[in-house]
Amino acid sequence: MKRPILIHPDPRLKKACDPVADLSDELRDLADDMLETMYDAPGIGLAAPQIGVLHRLIVLDCEKDPDSPPKPLVMFNPEVVTSSDDLNTYEEGCLSIPDQFADVTRPAEVKVTWLDRDGNPREQEFDGLWATCVQHEIDHLNGKLFIDYLGAMKRQMITRKMVKLKRERARG
Ligand SMILES: [Zn+2]
Repeated sequence: MKRPILIHPDPRLKKACDPVADLSDELRDLADDMLETMYDAPGIGLAAPQIGVLHRLIVLDCEKDPDSPPKPLVMFNPEVVTSSDDLNTYEEGCLSIPDQFADVTRPAEVKVTWLDRDGNPREQEFDGLWATCVQHEIDHLNGKLFIDYLGAMKRQMITRKMVKLKRERARG
């Protein structure tokens, strides 16, 4: 089932999320809903707070080749355990900040631990777009948005556009 995506500014996007204690069917259904919502948007990552659920859960799929099978990842309680000194800059966007893009510099490679959909502990190194995306999504779980890396002027400009967009959408 597709879920509505919250648009910035929203207090729920600024909250630190709680770790998931026990994996339940309810949480697995939530992860499946998030993947469906992400693919439909379309996007390459989605964090639970973006649909108003304050749990440490993210989903992502950064496979860019349309001829490749999808590579969905479901991560409960994801954590960056090591980051490279090498940095990488990508033009980032966010499903909660539609049509706004800006360069963000982050560690180029990260090692991440998480629990998968079946509750198994996993560990993997990511680079390229995957590394950027997983860091962007984990930031969401700490109430941090990509615009928080930008200067105050740019951030305020984008926020004003989003306030306007939300007003227009509310009017229908
Ligand atoms: Zn985002």
